[in-house]
Amino acid sequence: MTSATSLSNVDDCESCVLCLSKYNRIRPSFCQCKHCSIPLCMDCMKEHHEEVLQDVAQISHQYNELKELLEMKQKMIVDETTKSIEDVNQYFKTYINELLETQEKIILDIEKAKQDAQSYVLKIDSDLRIVGIEIQVASICMRMQNHRPVFHVTFCDLKMNKLNSILLGKCDGCIEIRTDGKDRFFITTGHHRFYIIHSNGEKQTVNLQNDGDCIAVLHNRRVAVSKQRKDMEIIAY
Ligand SMILES: [Zn+2]
Ligand SMILES: [Zn+2]
Repeated sequence: MTSATSLSNVDDCESCVLCLSKYNRIRPSFCQCKHCSIPLCMDCMKEHHEEVLQDVAQISHQYNELKELLEMKQKMIVDETTKSIEDVNQYFKTYINELLETQEKIILDIEKAKQDAQSYVLKIDSDLRIVGIEIQVASICMRMQNHRPVFHVTFCDLKMNKLNSILLGKCDGCIEIRTDGKDRFFITTGHHRFYIIHSNGEKQTVNLQNDGDCIAVLHNRRVAVSKQRKDMEIIAY
């Protein structure tokens, strides 16, 4: 920076402005400040020069301060921008990771639900097969033996394959057969004799107090037997 004062020759007739305004005296001017365009004597010129130098120093100081401030602001803008970009990147990275984790979890849940559903269907299928194996049909046939009617019970699976046949003895034609649905069959003969039979051939004979030809399967492992709906007898098994 250059000094704002610059000397130039002036008309000797002009008097120093500072002498007049500041010191209340009259002196012929020696030069003119080009910056302020005022005529000055030698002393005032030196003094004015000092003042201008001080102003320049102050302005220079302010300039440097402003420059520093500006540089600081510039750096702040760069730093803040960089940090903002880093923050955004980090945020999206975290967010994307969370989304990916959620996606993975949802897919795992779906896979798990699929496996559970398949297992459930397989279990039902397996249960149905077991039930199918357990479902058996019992039929009663009567035929004449030594001029007397005798009957036997035949067990078949659902494909009507014969599993077992049990001879039961004489009857008067009033035969009734019922099942509790759990591989247990109840047979009345029209007489005192009452049978509880398993398809495996196991046979239990019960002597009723009265003749029986009618069966009702009750709950709690009981059956009711009667003859023409009279004299009902409860049998626990
Ligand atoms: Zn002067
Ligand atoms: Zn000046």
